[in-house]
Amino acid sequence: MNIIVQKFGGSSVANTERVRNVAGRIIDAYQEGKSVVVVVSAQGDTTDDLLEKAAEINPSPSKREMDVLLSTGEQISMALLAMAIEQRGCPVVSLTGWQVGMNTDSKYGSARIKQIDTERIKRELDAKRIVIVAGFQGINQYDDITTLGRGGSDTTAVALAAALHAQVCEIYTDVDGVYTADPRIVKNAKKLDDISYDEMLELASLGANVLHNRSVELALKYGVNLEVKSSFEKIRGTIVKEVGSVEKMLVRGVTRDNNVARISVVNIENTPGKAFKLFSLLAKKNINVDVILQSIGRGDTKDITFTVDEGNLDAAIAVIDENLGYLGATSVNYTKDVSKVSVVGAGMTSNPGVAALMFEALYDANINIHMISTSEIKISVLIDRQDAENAVRSIHDKFNLA
Ligand code: ADP
Ligand code: ASP
Ligand code: MG
Repeated sequence: MNIIVQKFGGSSVANTERVRNVAGRIIDAYQEGKSVVVVVSAQGDTTDDLLEKAAEINPSPSKREMDVLLSTGEQISMALLAMAIEQRGCPVVSLTGWQVGMNTDSKYGSARIKQIDTERIKRELDAKRIVIVAGFQGINQYDDITTLGRGGSDTTAVALAAALHAQVCEIYTDVDGVYTADPRIVKNAKKLDDISYDEMLELASLGANVLHNRSVELALKYGVNLEVKSSFEKIRGTIVKEVGSVEKMLVRGVTRDNNVARISVVNIENTPGKAFKLFSLLAKKNINVDVILQSIGRGDTKDITFTVDEGNLDAAIAVIDENLGYLGATSVNYTKDVSKVSVVGAGMTSNPGVAALMFEALYDANINIHMISTSEIKISVLIDRQDAENAVRSIHDKFNLA
């Protein structure tokens, strides 16, 4: 079977006219003789609106009920899209996460897909129906609804493409591809014709939300052909593929991530084992730590500063506060007014000047760096949030990415 998976994001189905437009794109593929599986997100700002509604009722609802609520957005759009296709006289069926056997673990709010029973989808495709699947949602071992984390519909699509051995997974969105920086921030950002899985994974993990990072992880693992393209214009998008064929650029792109908070544990005893104690406390609470900086000891004490996802800040502060005595520290402080800005490129491994150039760009813009971290294919800095967009533009210019 000649299966393709098409995913349409929230802005692509935001209103009736757009739902009709998307229906047209789907029918085009169907009439070319393809077996079409479509993954759809909630319309426009629906997910944000649902989050707000929940907060009005209960500021800290259980994660289980939150997932029951958030999953409804996708169920609305899948039905509307199916209706638009029906109206054009094409056979179609819409299916929820549980109907397509999207089995996940039980981490409500950031569940991972464990296995997909493709039997139902295959039956529908055999009957020549277009299959519309609700993105972002799954079902756990207790038959409860789970969601995959913000932006998770991309991951639904890639997982289905892998499970169905689809020819290609097309991610339709409100930009016509992956750019050297968020085109909303950098007006002269350049569209990339192709990008390697590795580079795309870094970009996505460092704040380029055009693709959910786990979708890229899955595409890499299962060799899914992935293309990011516009749902409005019929033009070639960006192809995410195996290295080799992709030219190793010094720097591929610049990203900004606002989903970060900085925590400092102050005056920790300057003795062995304190970092171990601190980070095991956080690990036990399932809190991921990113950039870490330890000050040189001043006699008997030292400070440890690190970053966490903003969503984990309260939990992190709570566990540290409870354990100040155990850590031999005097206090803990934090700020949310920071952003992580990064440059990504597989070619930087062998080029020593990249960090210097990035720091020069920040100096040009008079931006102070709080923390720095590097890996083989990326360099990240933590800076004040108010400086972040300016930093992205300045770095983008400095590397001549336009
Ligand atoms: P969808 O609703 O289709 O899933 P998203 O809002 O999740 O769409 O992702 C698309 C958005 O990602 C774009 O509108 C753009 O502002 C943003 N974006 C961030 N970084 C990049 C980048 N490097 N290239 C393209 N888009 C990017
Ligand atoms: N509707 C979900 C969100 O807004 C999932 C997605 O759009 O991919 O995060
Ligand atoms: Mg998205």
